[in-house]
Amino acid sequence: MKFVIKSISKNSGRLGQLRIKESQELATPLLMQTTKGGSIPYLTADAFEMVSNEQQLLQLTLSTMDQMAESLALWTRPLSDYVGLPGHNTVLMIRDPCETTPAGGNDRDVMPLFTRRGKESLTATQYMEMVAKFAPDVYQGLCDADTNPESTKKRVQKSVDRTERFMNECYALHGKEQRLANSTLLAPIVGGYNTFARTQSIKHAKEQPAGSYGGYILEGFHTNGLAATTLSAAQLLPIVEHCLQQLEDDKPRLMPGAFTPLLTLELIRRGVDVFDTSYAYCAAANYKALTFSYTKDAVQHAAFLDLTDDEIKEQFTPLLSGCTCLACSKHTRAYIHHLYKTHELLGPILLMIHNLHHYLGFFAAIRSSIAADQLPELIEHVRLQNTDAEIDYRIEANAKVISKAAMGKGFIAAAV
Ligand SMILES: [Zn+2]
Repeated sequence: MKFVIKSISKNSGRLGQLRIKESQELATPLLMQTTKGGSIPYLTADAFEMVSNEQQLLQLTLSTMDQMAESLALWTRPLSDYVGLPGHNTVLMIRDPCETTPAGGNDRDVMPLFTRRGKESLTATQYMEMVAKFAPDVYQGLCDADTNPESTKKRVQKSVDRTERFMNECYALHGKEQRLANSTLLAPIVGGYNTFARTQSIKHAKEQPAGSYGGYILEGFHTNGLAATTLSAAQLLPIVEHCLQQLEDDKPRLMPGAFTPLLTLELIRRGVDVFDTSYAYCAAANYKALTFSYTKDAVQHAAFLDLTDDEIKEQFTPLLSGCTCLACSKHTRAYIHHLYKTHELLGPILLMIHNLHHYLGFFAAIRSSIAADQLPELIEHVRLQNTDAEIDYRIEANAKVISKAAMGKGFIAAAV
């Protein structure tokens, strides 16, 4: 994996190019496509092609794919071929950013892996054996990321110490594993909201010989799912900034989770390069269409349109006026509300098509703004949406639709 910074500005983020193996260059800030069980949630590969025909970085998660490991051990073609999305790049992570990761289950030498069937425990050696079966283009190092803004100092320190122990093994095994010869390892940075712990975690990664890893994954700020949409910027941004100041410029920084569009922009302004589409998924799963504006206009916009709202049953307009996605060009709000009423799976499918289209457009607008040195202006536009107050982008669980089926059979349904 190669990463080249194209431009960098103190207050306006950075533009880069990521090249994974022989792939096309992926422009950063980049949006990874979150998957569940190896597929884009609600969408077939053909449906996804109608959203985007550009090369993507697929975010695959062990917590939704662990059962495929045995079969994959016999697979000799790229991992993206196995999941039916050939030609795309793959990054294997541990946790599903779309669903809340339960707390606990950490032990001295094992990390809990919460799957659809319950909890499993993995040692660093077992983890690396499993990753080798997947042979992804990029993968994250094993870490204890079970921390959030409320974690105690003791829990945070344990997460750092365990991650160091796990990573000592991962670094050693990475070079030996034949099936990982072409894979890039991402160094996990943990330590909750504690500056001392974060520095310690960064120091451990930076002590490794040159070439041991190709980028960073910043973990342990939240426990995934909707919780990431409620993080306080005042709490999160200083600690992220503390980390980024200590990282080299020439390695990409990934930050998984359903951060709000506004928080995503603030993280980009500080130098985070890669995010995922879990926010777009969480909105669709809760029957919300993203309607915020990222192009300068003078109209007031809301963060979402709630398709379960009875008021829209006679609105024969698209989800978002001017949107060119398949859902907006062919269907009305009234029809999608009807799909909700009748529990048709086509409802979340159309919402996912719109939300992904909208979020990919948002990231393209972010890159253009950075190139024009206008990121602060875009942030202000997204913050206010031409109203007088900051827009609330948090996603609350929609009690009308949350069910095992609506949540894409995530393990959260079983855990609640
Ligand atoms: Zn649309």
